[in-house]
Amino acid sequence: MKHLYISGVSTLKLTAEKCTGCGRCVDVCPHGVFDIHDHRAQIIALDSCMECGACSQNCSFGALSVKKRRRMRGRNDQRPDDQGRP
Ligand code: SF4
Ligand code: SF4
Repeated sequence: MKHLYISGVSTLKLTAEKCTGCGRCVDVCPHGVFDIHDHRAQIIALDSCMECGACSQNCSFGALSVKKRRRMRGRNDQRPDDQGRP
């Protein structure tokens, strides 16, 4: 059975002008999101990005960014100020 995911939601951004084509993002990305073309990184599979942040943390040239998402609150989550309230 094919698994389905929401598309177009990744916050991954590549600033091509900063990219030197070192290829580190290709090496560290566990989901094959990047490839190198004409000595620059390209995003080839944005919807495979799980926003782990490995690429942006390992790009020494500041060419990649991934926004930190706020964790969605679950039904059983409580805020500290909710404690003890019905
Ligand atoms: S790690 Fe950064 S500089 Fe290196 S190829 Fe990827 S985006 Fe470009
Ligand atoms: S955030 Fe993680 S999954 Fe997404 S492109 Fe970067 S290394 Fe790959």
